[in-house]
Amino acid sequence: VDRFEPNLRIPGPTALPPTVREVGGRQMINHRGPEFAAMLSRILDGMRPFFGTSREVAMLSCAGTGGLEAAIVNTLSPGDRVLAVSIGAFGDRFAKIASVYGADVAKLDVEWGHAAEPVAVREALSSQGPFRAVLLTHNETSTGVMNPIPELAAAIRETSPHTLILVDSVSALGAVPFAMDDWGIDLVVTGSQKAWMSAPGLAMVAASERGWAAMETARMPRFYLDLRRHRESHAGGETPWTPALAVVFQVDEGIRLMQAEGADSVFARHEACAAATRAGLEALGFELFADARHASRTVTCVRLAEGVEWKALNTAVKKRGVVVAGGQGKLAGQVFRVGHLGSVTVEEILGTIAALEAVALEQGRDVEPGAAVGAAQAAALASRGVGRAAAATA
Ligand SMILES: *Cc1c(COP(=O)(O)O)cnc(C)c1O
Repeated sequence: VDRFEPNLRIPGPTALPPTVREVGGRQMINHRGPEFAAMLSRILDGMRPFFGTSREVAMLSCAGTGGLEAAIVNTLSPGDRVLAVSIGAFGDRFAKIASVYGADVAKLDVEWGHAAEPVAVREALSSQGPFRAVLLTHNETSTGVMNPIPELAAAIRETSPHTLILVDSVSALGAVPFAMDDWGIDLVVTGSQKAWMSAPGLAMVAASERGWAAMETARMPRFYLDLRRHRESHAGGETPWTPALAVVFQVDEGIRLMQAEGADSVFARHEACAAATRAGLEALGFELFADARHASRTVTCVRLAEGVEWKALNTAVKKRGVVVAGGQGKLAGQVFRVGHLGSVTVEEILGTIAALEAVALEQGRDVEPGAAVGAAQAAALASRGVGRAAAATA
């Protein structure tokens, strides 16, 4: 197995395409010179259509969590009332950051596996408001649920027009369509190691006019993550501090690859991979953890089938060169997750399902050789409008 590249099917860090890996090994350059300035503007301009914004994007050197911290400390003041809508472990983290910095956080906890309902958010806003901000998770990586952001944002705007909407889209942006300007989102965060096919180390944050205005009056302490300093520095082709340059090279190449493929093709590929993953895992007897109406297009979470133990499953699939992720937080030992974002092809998903199928056969489970792979293949083709399944639904 050591001789082969593992099929890295965790929801981040995601696998690096060969050219992305190569540029990560480039010689350093002066980060206060014209070459860097040109690269920075390519990256920020290239990201804008994926965010769906015509406004500034800021690039921070930190993990995705640093981007979430930037969202909080730049827009809020201690004592501000915040409604944290949590549908899983990452929603809990966003809420935690706000309370650590002194926000007065009310949580709307949604049962794990479900998306937030616009009516429930509306209800919380009217019964417990007013709130300065609402925190939303776009794609809850711990449960494999994707929140209906446009519907939630519309509900918030109608009920509470001046409340800021801050969104964690770390594990979705770049892989699925996003339109922050049209949806009325005030701030969105993403991270280099998810859809952008790069190493961890950069968080990208975009804000609306209202979001940027909030930064002028926000009183939470901030220095390294001050978005206004980043915006000012970016205008001159620089970052305020030394950036994670090797990752900047990679994100530049990652965006180039995404542009060459075309955003719509990138989104369609993610849909096909998600459909294949779900169909393959279900055919293997695993139950989807997510409410099917809100199943994520970047990560699939399934319950471990009766008699299947996580450690044994993980060891067996790893021997076959496939790396999947276990359960997070309270889901440890109950679920496992397959990541399908960033650099992922349907063929890699079929390989993942094939490995899981072989393990199921080895473990004496009642599965038909090839059936799960076939189901995954058919689902991927159907999602692209090809094959019998697509013809049947046409
Ligand atoms: C990966 C991820 C983050 C950020 O994680 P880091 O480990 O800090 O980079 C935040 N939110 C979601 C939903 C994620 O999937």
